[in-house]
Amino acid sequence: MNFLEERIVKDGVVKKGNVLKVDSFLNHQMDIELFDRMGEEFKRRFANENINKIVTIEASGIGIACIVARHFGVPVVFAKKSQSINIDGDVYIAEVESFTHKCKNQVIVSKKFLSADDHVLLIDDFLANGYALQGLISIVQQAGGTVEGIGIAIEKGFQYGGRTIRNLGYHLESLAIVDGMDPETGEVIFREQ
Ligand code: 5GP
Repeated sequence: MNFLEERIVKDGVVKKGNVLKVDSFLNHQMDIELFDRMGEEFKRRFANENINKIVTIEASGIGIACIVARHFGVPVVFAKKSQSINIDGDVYIAEVESFTHKCKNQVIVSKKFLSADDHVLLIDDFLANGYALQGLISIVQQAGGTVEGIGIAIEKGFQYGGRTIRNLGYHLESLAIVDGMDPETGEVIFREQ
């Protein structure tokens, strides 16, 4: 087991409905030492990619993206969730269905912060069905930029997002891939990588 898998076993809580709760170290209280190791690992896995910007989605991607960005020496742009229909023309927009909240959000990025010159690493905390990533990919495409790689902390391998994104040809790296989890026993099974 790697350092993130060990932490999931120690502090993760398996909930009903295919939800893994990791709010004591990843997406509510945040363990910055752990994030730093994640940043180091993403830097190693994407060593051959030429990355000049990190893009993530609010809220829980932001903390991880900021620490990862230190390892790449690049800025972070996060897609903002917006319910407003009153959006002016200076933004890229994508529609994203929320896995945890079961609602649809428009996410926006200002055209000032993403362009055809950008070589982007997408970062997020979880990959489930892939809606958040598809929205971010669409925004980078609207800008004419290039998605050089995708770094995920925890992929739930029994949901279809990872397969879809890999089939599209993206270089996707997940630090932990959960292939099964049991809310009764709390057991989490990881994919050998
Ligand atoms: P997707 O868009 O891939 O279906 O879901 C990814 C998004 O939903 C992530 O940004 C994450 O915030 C949230 N998410 C999906 N599955 C889980 C989960 O098991 N636990 C938590 N805490 N968040 C999740």
